[in-house]
Amino acid sequence: MSDLHITVIPGDGIGPEIMDATLKVLKKLNVGLVFDEALAGGPAMQQGLDLIPEETLEKIEHSAATLKGPITTPIGKGFTSVNVSLRQHFNLFANVRPTLSIPGATTRYSNIDILIVRENMEGLYSGIGHTLSEDGERAELRSVVTRKGCLRILRHAFELARRLKRRKVTVVHKANIMKSTSGLFLNVAREVAQEYSDIECEEMIVDNCAMQLVMNPHRFDVIVTTNLFGDILSDLCAGLVGGLGLAPGANIGENMGIFEAVHGSAPDIAGKNIANPTALLLGAAMMLDYLHLNAAAEKIRKAVRIVIGEGKYLTPDLGGHASTTEYTDALLLTLDSL
Ligand code: ATP
Repeated sequence: MSDLHITVIPGDGIGPEIMDATLKVLKKLNVGLVFDEALAGGPAMQQGLDLIPEETLEKIEHSAATLKGPITTPIGKGFTSVNVSLRQHFNLFANVRPTLSIPGATTRYSNIDILIVRENMEGLYSGIGHTLSEDGERAELRSVVTRKGCLRILRHAFELARRLKRRKVTVVHKANIMKSTSGLFLNVAREVAQEYSDIECEEMIVDNCAMQLVMNPHRFDVIVTTNLFGDILSDLCAGLVGGLGLAPGANIGENMGIFEAVHGSAPDIAGKNIANPTALLLGAAMMLDYLHLNAAAEKIRKAVRIVIGEGKYLTPDLGGHASTTEYTDALLLTLDSL
Protein backbone atom coordinates (compact mmCIF):
# COMPACT_ATOMS: atom_id res chain seq x y z
CA MET A 1 0.00 0.00 0.00
CA SER A 2 1.62 3.30 -1.03
CA ASP A 3 1.17 6.32 1.22
CA LEU A 4 -1.57 8.83 0.42
CA HIS A 5 -0.58 12.43 1.08
CA ILE A 6 -3.22 14.51 2.83
CA THR A 7 -2.96 18.28 3.16
CA VAL A 8 -4.15 19.37 6.59
CA ILE A 9 -5.29 22.95 7.20
CA PRO A 10 -6.10 23.30 10.92
CA GLY A 11 -7.77 26.70 10.47
CA ASP A 12 -8.54 29.01 13.38
CA GLY A 13 -10.91 29.31 16.36
CA ILE A 14 -11.78 25.73 17.36
CA GLY A 15 -10.06 24.48 14.18
CA PRO A 16 -6.76 23.34 15.76
CA GLU A 17 -8.59 21.54 18.61
CA ILE A 18 -10.96 19.58 16.41
CA MET A 19 -8.23 18.89 13.86
CA ASP A 20 -6.01 17.50 16.59
CA ALA A 21 -8.80 15.13 17.66
CA THR A 22 -9.50 14.10 14.06
CA LEU A 23 -5.85 13.40 13.28
CA LYS A 24 -5.55 11.24 16.39
CA VAL A 25 -8.43 9.11 15.11
CA LEU A 26 -7.10 8.97 11.54
CA LYS A 27 -3.62 7.97 12.76
CA LYS A 28 -5.14 5.25 14.92
CA LEU A 29 -6.80 3.75 11.83
CA ASN A 30 -3.35 3.28 10.33
CA VAL A 31 -4.42 3.22 6.68
CA GLY A 32 -1.28 4.71 5.14
CA LEU A 33 -2.12 8.40 5.25
CA VAL A 34 0.71 10.94 5.49
CA PHE A 35 -0.29 14.36 6.79
CA ASP A 36 1.25 17.59 5.60
CA GLU A 37 0.18 20.74 7.42
CA ALA A 38 -0.56 23.94 5.48
CA LEU A 39 -1.59 27.45 6.51
CA ALA A 40 -4.54 29.55 5.40
CA GLY A 41 -6.56 32.45 6.82
CA GLY A 42 -5.60 34.18 10.08
CA PRO A 43 -2.73 31.83 10.99
CA ALA A 44 -1.12 32.50 7.57
CA MET A 45 -1.54 36.27 7.90
CA GLN A 46 0.01 36.23 11.38
CA GLN A 47 3.16 34.86 9.75
CA GLY A 48 3.13 37.65 7.17
CA LEU A 49 1.87 35.39 4.41
CA ASP A 50 -1.06 35.75 2.01
CA LEU A 51 -4.53 34.67 3.14
CA ILE A 52 -4.00 31.54 1.04
CA PRO A 53 -0.24 31.21 0.48
CA GLU A 54 0.99 29.81 -2.85
CA GLU A 55 2.67 26.96 -0.94
CA THR A 56 -0.73 25.92 0.46
CA LEU A 57 -2.29 25.91 -3.01
CA GLU A 58 0.55 23.74 -4.29
CA LYS A 59 0.22 21.30 -1.41
CA ILE A 60 -3.51 20.96 -2.00
CA GLU A 61 -2.95 20.49 -5.71
CA HIS A 62 -0.47 17.67 -5.20
CA SER A 63 -2.16 15.74 -2.41
CA ALA A 64 -4.69 12.93 -2.64
CA ALA A 65 -7.19 14.98 -0.60
CA THR A 66 -7.34 17.90 1.82
CA LEU A 67 -8.81 18.06 5.29
CA LYS A 68 -9.67 21.59 6.37
CA GLY A 69 -10.65 23.10 9.69
CA PRO A 70 -12.89 26.19 9.84
CA ILE A 71 -11.27 29.41 8.67
CA THR A 72 -12.54 32.86 9.58
CA THR A 73 -12.35 35.53 6.92
CA PRO A 74 -10.72 38.61 8.49
CA ILE A 75 -13.15 41.51 8.74
CA GLY A 76 -12.21 44.41 6.52
CA LYS A 77 -12.19 45.56 2.95
CA GLY A 78 -10.70 43.40 0.28
CA PHE A 79 -10.78 40.00 1.99
CA THR A 80 -12.61 37.33 0.06
CA SER A 81 -13.63 34.32 2.09
CA VAL A 82 -10.90 31.67 2.13
CA ASN A 83 -13.52 28.98 1.63
CA VAL A 84 -15.03 30.72 -1.39
CA SER A 85 -11.55 31.38 -2.83
CA LEU A 86 -10.51 27.74 -2.50
CA ARG A 87 -13.72 26.60 -4.18
CA GLN A 88 -13.18 29.03 -7.06
CA HIS A 89 -9.47 28.30 -7.43
CA PHE A 90 -9.87 24.53 -7.61
CA ASN A 91 -13.26 24.43 -9.35
CA LEU A 92 -14.87 22.62 -6.44
CA PHE A 93 -18.34 22.85 -7.88
CA ALA A 94 -20.20 20.45 -5.58
CA ASN A 95 -20.74 20.79 -1.86
CA VAL A 96 -22.05 17.52 -0.49
CA ARG A 97 -23.54 17.68 2.99
CA PRO A 98 -25.05 14.54 4.52
CA THR A 99 -27.49 14.84 7.40
CA LEU A 100 -27.68 11.58 9.29
CA SER A 101 -29.26 10.96 12.68
CA ILE A 102 -26.91 9.68 15.37
CA PRO A 103 -28.85 7.81 18.07
CA GLY A 104 -28.06 9.38 21.44
CA ALA A 105 -27.98 12.98 20.23
CA THR A 106 -31.10 14.72 21.56
CA THR A 107 -33.16 15.84 18.59
CA ARG A 108 -36.77 16.34 17.54
CA TYR A 109 -36.58 13.52 15.00
CA SER A 110 -34.80 10.20 14.63
CA ASN A 111 -33.81 8.26 11.50
CA ILE A 112 -33.11 11.32 9.38
CA ASP A 113 -31.02 10.61 6.31
CA ILE A 114 -30.91 13.55 3.89
CA LEU A 115 -28.14 14.30 1.43
CA ILE A 116 -27.83 17.92 0.34
CA VAL A 117 -25.93 18.58 -2.87
CA ARG A 118 -25.29 22.30 -3.12
CA GLU A 119 -23.89 24.18 -6.09
CA ASN A 120 -20.65 25.62 -4.73
CA MET A 121 -19.39 28.31 -7.10
CA GLU A 122 -22.15 30.32 -8.70
CA GLY A 123 -25.20 32.36 -7.74
CA LEU A 124 -25.08 35.03 -5.07
CA TYR A 125 -21.88 33.63 -3.55
CA SER A 126 -19.77 34.04 -6.66
CA GLY A 127 -18.63 37.42 -5.34
CA ILE A 128 -19.42 39.24 -8.59
CA GLY A 129 -20.57 42.84 -8.58
CA HIS A 130 -20.45 43.75 -4.88
CA THR A 131 -21.06 47.50 -4.80
CA LEU A 132 -22.14 49.99 -2.20
CA SER A 133 -22.81 53.55 -3.26
CA GLU A 134 -20.65 56.26 -1.69
CA ASP A 135 -23.55 57.58 0.35
CA GLY A 136 -24.21 54.07 1.67
CA GLU A 137 -27.79 54.18 0.41
CA ARG A 138 -27.67 51.53 -2.30
CA ALA A 139 -26.02 48.12 -2.46
CA GLU A 140 -25.81 45.69 -5.33
CA LEU A 141 -24.69 42.12 -5.90
CA ARG A 142 -24.96 40.07 -9.05
CA SER A 143 -26.07 36.48 -9.18
CA VAL A 144 -24.61 34.57 -12.11
CA VAL A 145 -25.87 31.10 -12.93
CA THR A 146 -24.66 29.25 -16.03
CA ARG A 147 -26.07 26.33 -17.93
CA LYS A 148 -22.71 24.56 -17.57
CA GLY A 149 -22.72 25.13 -13.80
CA CYS A 150 -26.29 23.83 -13.49
CA LEU A 151 -25.57 20.78 -15.63
CA ARG A 152 -22.56 19.64 -13.64
CA ILE A 153 -24.15 20.03 -10.20
CA LEU A 154 -27.40 18.38 -11.28
CA ARG A 155 -25.60 15.48 -12.95
CA HIS A 156 -23.42 15.13 -9.85
CA ALA A 157 -26.52 14.92 -7.65
CA PHE A 158 -28.30 12.37 -9.82
CA GLU A 159 -25.12 10.30 -10.25
CA LEU A 160 -24.60 10.31 -6.49
CA ALA A 161 -28.22 9.31 -5.97
CA ARG A 162 -27.81 6.40 -8.36
CA ARG A 163 -24.48 5.27 -6.87
CA LEU A 164 -25.82 5.41 -3.32
CA LYS A 165 -29.07 3.72 -4.36
CA ARG A 166 -31.23 6.64 -3.22
CA ARG A 167 -34.77 6.81 -4.48
CA LYS A 168 -35.57 10.48 -4.97
CA VAL A 169 -33.97 13.82 -5.82
CA THR A 170 -35.75 17.02 -4.80
CA VAL A 171 -34.79 20.02 -6.92
CA VAL A 172 -35.10 23.12 -4.75
CA HIS A 173 -35.51 26.49 -6.48
CA LYS A 174 -37.29 29.86 -6.49
CA ALA A 175 -38.05 30.01 -10.20
CA ASN A 176 -41.42 31.67 -9.62
CA ILE A 177 -39.69 34.88 -8.45
CA MET A 178 -36.05 34.58 -9.58
CA LYS A 179 -37.13 33.72 -13.10
CA SER A 180 -33.75 34.05 -14.81
CA THR A 181 -31.29 32.39 -12.42
CA SER A 182 -33.50 29.91 -10.60
CA GLY A 183 -35.51 29.45 -13.80
CA LEU A 184 -32.38 28.30 -15.66
CA PHE A 185 -31.50 25.91 -12.83
CA LEU A 186 -34.99 24.41 -12.91
CA ASN A 187 -35.06 24.04 -16.69
CA VAL A 188 -31.71 22.25 -16.70
CA ALA A 189 -32.91 20.07 -13.80
CA ARG A 190 -35.90 18.94 -15.88
CA GLU A 191 -33.57 18.00 -18.75
CA VAL A 192 -31.15 16.11 -16.51
CA ALA A 193 -33.96 14.29 -14.70
CA GLN A 194 -34.95 12.74 -18.05
CA GLU A 195 -31.54 11.02 -18.17
CA TYR A 196 -32.26 9.33 -14.83
CA SER A 197 -35.62 7.68 -15.21
CA ASP A 198 -34.70 5.21 -12.41
CA ILE A 199 -34.71 8.06 -9.85
CA GLU A 200 -37.82 9.97 -8.86
CA CYS A 201 -37.46 13.72 -9.31
CA GLU A 202 -39.62 16.29 -7.55
CA GLU A 203 -39.50 20.08 -7.64
CA MET A 204 -39.96 22.28 -4.61
CA ILE A 205 -39.85 26.01 -3.97
CA VAL A 206 -37.23 26.85 -1.36
CA ASP A 207 -39.53 28.46 1.22
CA ASN A 208 -41.87 25.48 1.12
CA CYS A 209 -38.83 23.21 1.39
CA ALA A 210 -37.71 24.96 4.59
CA MET A 211 -41.13 24.37 6.13
CA GLN A 212 -41.36 20.77 4.94
CA LEU A 213 -37.90 20.02 6.33
CA VAL A 214 -39.01 21.14 9.76
CA MET A 215 -42.45 19.49 9.68
CA ASN A 216 -41.82 16.31 7.73
CA PRO A 217 -38.10 15.72 7.14
CA HIS A 218 -38.54 12.01 6.40
CA ARG A 219 -40.08 12.82 3.03
CA PHE A 220 -36.65 13.95 1.76
CA ASP A 221 -33.88 11.85 0.34
CA VAL A 222 -31.42 13.81 -1.88
CA ILE A 223 -31.81 17.59 -2.23
CA VAL A 224 -30.04 19.48 -5.00
CA THR A 225 -30.05 23.25 -5.05
CA THR A 226 -28.15 26.45 -5.79
CA ASN A 227 -25.44 27.95 -3.61
CA LEU A 228 -27.26 30.28 -1.18
CA PHE A 229 -30.30 28.03 -0.70
CA GLY A 230 -28.02 25.04 -0.10
CA ASP A 231 -26.01 26.92 2.51
CA ILE A 232 -29.09 27.85 4.50
CA LEU A 233 -30.96 24.56 4.14
CA SER A 234 -27.93 22.51 5.14
CA ASP A 235 -27.65 24.38 8.45
CA LEU A 236 -31.36 23.77 8.97
CA CYS A 237 -30.72 20.08 8.34
CA ALA A 238 -27.80 20.09 10.79
CA GLY A 239 -30.27 21.37 13.37
CA LEU A 240 -32.52 18.39 12.69
CA VAL A 241 -29.88 15.90 13.80
CA GLY A 242 -28.29 17.66 16.76
CA GLY A 243 -26.56 20.79 15.53
CA LEU A 244 -23.50 22.02 13.71
CA GLY A 245 -21.12 19.90 15.79
CA LEU A 246 -22.33 16.84 13.86
CA ALA A 247 -22.50 18.14 10.29
CA PRO A 248 -19.73 17.30 7.79
CA GLY A 249 -19.28 18.57 4.25
CA ALA A 250 -17.20 17.82 1.16
CA ASN A 251 -16.17 20.24 -1.58
CA ILE A 252 -15.78 18.18 -4.70
CA GLY A 253 -14.26 19.03 -8.09
CA GLU A 254 -13.24 16.92 -11.08
CA ASN A 255 -10.09 15.51 -9.47
CA MET A 256 -10.04 17.05 -6.06
CA GLY A 257 -11.79 16.96 -2.71
CA ILE A 258 -11.55 19.27 0.30
CA PHE A 259 -13.29 17.82 3.35
CA GLU A 260 -14.47 19.83 6.33
CA ALA A 261 -17.02 20.50 9.02
CA VAL A 262 -19.97 22.63 7.92
CA HIS A 263 -19.62 24.92 10.93
CA GLY A 264 -17.48 28.01 11.33
CA SER A 265 -14.60 28.65 13.71
CA ALA A 266 -16.91 29.10 16.75
CA PRO A 267 -14.81 31.83 18.43
CA ASP A 268 -17.15 31.80 21.44
CA ILE A 269 -15.84 28.38 22.55
CA ALA A 270 -12.34 28.40 21.03
CA GLY A 271 -9.48 27.32 23.30
CA LYS A 272 -11.78 25.82 25.94
CA ASN A 273 -11.39 22.16 24.91
CA ILE A 274 -15.18 21.75 24.66
CA ALA A 275 -15.74 21.82 20.89
CA ASN A 276 -17.38 18.80 19.35
CA PRO A 277 -14.96 17.35 16.76
CA THR A 278 -17.58 15.00 15.26
CA ALA A 279 -18.40 17.14 12.23
CA LEU A 280 -14.76 17.21 11.14
CA LEU A 281 -14.39 13.51 11.99
CA LEU A 282 -17.35 12.67 9.78
CA GLY A 283 -15.79 14.93 7.12
CA ALA A 284 -12.65 12.80 7.47
CA ALA A 285 -14.83 9.70 7.01
CA MET A 286 -16.17 11.23 3.76
CA MET A 287 -12.54 11.77 2.74
CA LEU A 288 -11.74 8.11 3.41
CA ASP A 289 -14.72 7.08 1.26
CA TYR A 290 -13.44 9.39 -1.50
CA LEU A 291 -10.05 7.64 -1.23
CA HIS A 292 -11.81 4.24 -1.44
CA LEU A 293 -10.88 3.43 2.16
CA ASN A 294 -14.51 2.60 2.92
CA ALA A 295 -13.88 0.15 5.77
CA ALA A 296 -11.89 2.76 7.70
CA ALA A 297 -14.58 5.37 7.00
CA GLU A 298 -17.21 3.06 8.38
CA LYS A 299 -15.11 2.49 11.52
CA ILE A 300 -15.15 6.22 12.26
CA ARG A 301 -18.92 6.41 11.80
CA LYS A 302 -19.43 3.32 13.93
CA ALA A 303 -17.21 4.60 16.75
CA VAL A 304 -19.08 7.93 16.71
CA ARG A 305 -22.45 6.13 16.86
CA ILE A 306 -21.27 3.95 19.76
CA VAL A 307 -19.76 6.75 21.87
CA ILE A 308 -22.61 9.21 21.31
CA GLY A 309 -25.14 6.37 21.70
CA GLU A 310 -23.69 5.43 25.11
CA GLY A 311 -24.08 9.06 26.15
CA LYS A 312 -21.26 8.98 28.71
CA TYR A 313 -18.83 11.28 26.95
CA LEU A 314 -20.94 13.92 25.25
CA THR A 315 -19.59 17.41 24.60
CA PRO A 316 -21.66 20.35 25.92
CA ASP A 317 -23.35 21.09 22.57
CA LEU A 318 -24.96 17.64 22.88
CA GLY A 319 -25.97 18.23 26.48
CA GLY A 320 -22.98 16.52 28.11
CA HIS A 321 -19.98 17.61 30.15
CA ALA A 322 -17.12 15.88 28.36
CA SER A 323 -14.17 17.82 26.99
CA THR A 324 -13.02 17.45 23.39
CA THR A 325 -10.14 15.34 24.70
CA GLU A 326 -12.34 13.03 26.80
CA TYR A 327 -14.72 12.44 23.89
CA THR A 328 -11.78 11.78 21.56
CA ASP A 329 -10.19 9.34 24.03
CA ALA A 330 -13.51 7.48 24.21
CA LEU A 331 -13.52 7.22 20.41
CA LEU A 332 -9.94 5.94 20.37
CA LEU A 333 -10.79 3.30 22.98
CA THR A 334 -13.88 2.26 21.02
CA LEU A 335 -11.83 1.94 17.84
CA ASP A 336 -9.67 -0.64 19.65
CA SER A 337 -12.70 -2.89 19.89
CA LEU A 338 -13.79 -2.56 16.23
P1 ATP B 1 -19.45 31.14 10.09
O1 ATP B 1 -19.99 32.45 9.66
O2 ATP B 1 -17.99 30.97 9.84
O3 ATP B 1 -20.27 29.96 9.66
P2 ATP B 1 -20.71 31.44 12.66
O4 ATP B 1 -20.17 32.30 13.76
O5 ATP B 1 -21.93 31.82 11.92
O6 ATP B 1 -19.49 31.12 11.66
P3 ATP B 1 -20.20 28.94 13.86
O7 ATP B 1 -18.79 29.33 14.10
O8 ATP B 1 -20.42 27.75 13.04
O9 ATP B 1 -21.04 30.06 13.21
O10 ATP B 1 -20.92 28.79 15.26
C1 ATP B 1 -22.32 28.87 15.46
C2 ATP B 1 -22.64 28.36 16.84
O11 ATP B 1 -22.49 26.94 16.87
C3 ATP B 1 -21.72 28.92 17.91
O12 ATP B 1 -22.43 29.15 19.09
C4 ATP B 1 -20.70 27.83 18.12
O13 ATP B 1 -20.18 27.77 19.42
C5 ATP B 1 -21.52 26.56 17.83
N1 ATP B 1 -20.66 25.52 17.25
C6 ATP B 1 -20.19 25.50 15.99
N2 ATP B 1 -19.40 24.44 15.80
C7 ATP B 1 -19.37 23.77 16.97
C8 ATP B 1 -18.72 22.57 17.42
N3 ATP B 1 -17.92 21.84 16.62
N4 ATP B 1 -18.91 22.17 18.70
C9 ATP B 1 -19.70 22.87 19.52
N5 ATP B 1 -20.34 24.01 19.17
C10 ATP B 1 -20.19 24.44 17.90
